[in-house]
Amino acid sequence: MQETQSTCPYCGVGCGVIIETRGGAITGVRGDPSHPANHGKLCTKGSTLHLTAAPAQAAQARLLVPQLRARRDAEPAPIAWSSAITHAAERLEGIVAAHGPDALGFYLSGQLLTEDYYVFNKLAKGLIGTNNIDTNSRLCMSSAVAGYKATLGADAPPACYDDFQHAGCLFIAGSNMAWAHPVAFRRVEAARAANPQMKIIVVDPRRTETAAVADLHLPLAPGTDVMLFHGLLHIMLREGWVDEAYIDRHTRGFAELKALVRDAVPGHVAAICGLNQDDLLRAARWFALGGDATPPDARRGTLSLYCQGLNQSSSGTDKNAALINLHLATGQIGRAGAGPFSLTGQPNAMGGREVGGLSNLLSAHRDMGNPAHRAEVAALWGVERVPDQPGKAAVEMFEAAADGEIKALWIACTNPAQSLPRQSLVREALRRAEFVVLQEAFAHTATAAFADLLLPATTWGEKLGTVTNSERRISRVRAAVPPSGEARHDWQIGVQLAQALETRLRAGRPSLFPYDTVDAQAGAEAIWNEHRESTRGRDLDITGLSWSLLDERGPQQWPFAQGAASGKARLYEDGVFPTPDGRALFQAQPYRALAEPCDARYPFSLNTGRLRDHWHGMSRTGQLGRLFAHESEPQLQMHPADMDRLQLKNGDLAHVTSRRGAIVAPVRTDAQLSSGQVFLAMHWGSEYLGGRSSTGQRLGGVNALTTPERCPKSRQPELKHAAVKVLKAQMP
Ligand code: SF4
Repeated sequence: MQETQSTCPYCGVGCGVIIETRGGAITGVRGDPSHPANHGKLCTKGSTLHLTAAPAQAAQARLLVPQLRARRDAEPAPIAWSSAITHAAERLEGIVAAHGPDALGFYLSGQLLTEDYYVFNKLAKGLIGTNNIDTNSRLCMSSAVAGYKATLGADAPPACYDDFQHAGCLFIAGSNMAWAHPVAFRRVEAARAANPQMKIIVVDPRRTETAAVADLHLPLAPGTDVMLFHGLLHIMLREGWVDEAYIDRHTRGFAELKALVRDAVPGHVAAICGLNQDDLLRAARWFALGGDATPPDARRGTLSLYCQGLNQSSSGTDKNAALINLHLATGQIGRAGAGPFSLTGQPNAMGGREVGGLSNLLSAHRDMGNPAHRAEVAALWGVERVPDQPGKAAVEMFEAAADGEIKALWIACTNPAQSLPRQSLVREALRRAEFVVLQEAFAHTATAAFADLLLPATTWGEKLGTVTNSERRISRVRAAVPPSGEARHDWQIGVQLAQALETRLRAGRPSLFPYDTVDAQAGAEAIWNEHRESTRGRDLDITGLSWSLLDERGPQQWPFAQGAASGKARLYEDGVFPTPDGRALFQAQPYRALAEPCDARYPFSLNTGRLRDHWHGMSRTGQLGRLFAHESEPQLQMHPADMDRLQLKNGDLAHVTSRRGAIVAPVRTDAQLSSGQVFLAMHWGSEYLGGRSSTGQRLGGVNALTTPERCPKSRQPELKHAAVKVLKAQMP
């Protein structure tokens, strides 16, 4: 038996795993006791990874050879890799020649490795000349990015997992981390067991498994987070719980914010948020004072943990900023156990951000809108210029394809035909695009049905490179077995496409992509070294790191500049922020109601989210029957009073309709929801269920219903709320 240290490919906790192999096949997995994120623990998803990688599973589930469709309605036929790359390059070149580079769109994934992301960004922005490259991380973390930059000056979560044990108060907002980040939640439970005085506040419209352990659950009305945070600041000001000295020394803009929250009186906030005033007072006190110790324990702080409930919102950036305002106003930042700490949904959402993997970003946290940053990146890449035309964000890219503005879509490691909101439009975009390429490890995703060219990619167990988890920790991903079939690494596919395009677009000039595609280890390390150099002098400087150091000393946190002895566990301990004058910036943004309020026609607020044992569209977790033991089918969860009123019983089928589409789903009573709210898991799509339920009713994925309304600053869609109506379905 051989053992290989690697990283779990699911959530942003970034647990280390040890992969066991026998005879060239993966036979087992266990938690890596030496990994600082998980100390040997794994959740149900991580601990069953090996079962999804067994050869028999792979034969059924994997895309193993390149395939090309002669026509959209034809079955795809195998094609040689060389022909596939040549065909793709010819099609892309033709579209660029006819319509310009912005007729192309690249849509990537937070599950790609940093090296994959780096190559595709250089390909799109450096070689082809379009900023139309975005990622499903837009659906996940872009509001956190915008919130950090607006307040603290850089997209850098300042805290770390070890801070759980130093906190006197954990403020968990918009995160069911008991299910979505299970191993991190085990650390929350351990921290509380070690410190019984710790107070846990959970802000969530639903009484989730996370909320069930809270000392105080604030079941706020959907979308009212900004009002809640302003209301808490109002109370802190009234009670003298703000840290005037910290505000004076380290921040700017507090007078404006103070004026804004003057009207956020508890009675008004309680009415808007659907909360009671005593709970607001308690939450403000615990947050400001770092718990409930009397007298306050200055050694303990308040740590906020937050995720999609804040991010997936039409005011996502303002929600993030309003929460960070509270940390700055109370000085709960820059010391052990204190600070805002966004949890990343995907395994490498952070790495994607580091290499500029969003349409508005450039390498090493540079901004596409900044001419000096564009010039720096052009010099690093050896190109004349990086385009200044704003690129399309995820939803916009598909809207542009539906309008005919984008003619070709290159999709890597993600499934937009299930995961993007307003599926009717997304599918129209995929139909209308002249050329759709999907590079993917799995054969049967909903998006595969729309692809002209399917390119087999490697996946967990086969891939090698790096990922960065929620606490800025870079871990190595190592290959335990060779690629299945003819699968290639995502970055290799990008390099081979780039080299084919270079013969057309830059003939006779040295390649911008001189990476070894035969020796994958050497090629991936060379890409990472180039990325490392791009970070020199930036907030995420990793010039002191190397793959050999990661091999010797294990996963490391950034920044880790040349000459440093180690990375930084937490940021801003000196009170100096990466802004022009070193001060953090309060954001005085008023509360805005939901983009699509409920009304008489669509009276329910639909919330979407993860289940404990599944991941995204289930292309991996859906292979294992045991992972359906927890939740066997998609069920619309509803308050019992609402079910009574609609004459629905558990298991009945209901029509669920929004302004964009309709599905039929079985209903289930859930007294932990407030009346007027319904919840449906995000994992099932219509294709996965074969399009029909056992009683013959058509079942669609939840994104048939969701809205493409988005935060104007982060462009992240509001997947946590859509106004819907629910009616009992007539049985056939
Ligand atoms: Fe994987 Fe996340 Fe579970 Fe850890 S907590 S094993 S990273 S899914």
